Amino acid sequence: MPLYEYRCKKCEKNFEILQRGSEKAVCPECGGKSLEKQFSVFASGGQQSESSGGGMPPSSPGSCSGTGCCG
Ligand SMILES: [Zn+2]
Repeated sequence: MPLYEYRCKKCEKNFEILQRGSEKAVCPECGGKSLEKQFSVFASGGQQSESSGGGMPPSSPGSCSGTGCCG
């Protein structure tokens, strides 16, 4: 079951909702429907606007010399 994080534009409250099917999410605080969908850090892991050191693992230097794998 997908867990979505929302932020209410009305009362500016952050909350999480277990949303299933076409169920409409509403703010549990004020019942508002103007919700802004937040990207949870552990939901997709691919939505990063900030550059925090890239995502590629450091390759060991000189590991492919001699084997001819890198041309
Ligand atoms: Zn609200």
